[in-house]
Amino acid sequence: MKKDDCIFCKIISGEIPSSKIYEDDDVLAFLDISQVTQGHALVVCKEHYDSFLTTPKKVMHKVMDVAQRIGQADMIMLGARGVNILTNIGKNAGQSVFHFHVHVIPRYAGDDLIIEMKENRDLEKLNLPAIAEEIKKGL
Ligand code: AMP
Ligand code: ZN
Repeated sequence: MKKDDCIFCKIISGEIPSSKIYEDDDVLAFLDISQVTQGHALVVCKEHYDSFLTTPKKVMHKVMDVAQRIGQADMIMLGARGVNILTNIGKNAGQSVFHFHVHVIPRYAGDDLIIEMKENRDLEKLNLPAIAEEIKKGL
């Protein structure tokens, strides 16, 4: 179902233009308006769901399938040397558009994009088995 104030719903309905890469009944992919590297794409489901975590599995799988295909095309057609697949969930994780989307970010030798997973030394003493137990209880 379309959400009136959602920018991606407006792109899906054609109200707002986009540089489309792929479209089928359930999924649309287009270039991100702010290119972090050349070819940076977004894959979205046509139905409005807020994020990865609230999207039905079947729909989420279709989006991931297209993300994989675009990543493969980036390597072959754009000469990418790697790809980052990223989805932000929630304001604290950097999500700014609350319609599930996956970033497909081609990576090139010498590009200056930094997507870093840095160890936090303050967390060195955490009880990992206890944390693992907590997460397991929620599965
Ligand atoms: P996120 O921060 O993960 O929610 O990503 C939202 C992304 O949507 C950002 O990278 C924006 O550059 C991108 N974006 C916002 N408006 C548009 C638009 N009209 N066309 C294409 N991309 C957009
Ligand atoms: Zn939407």
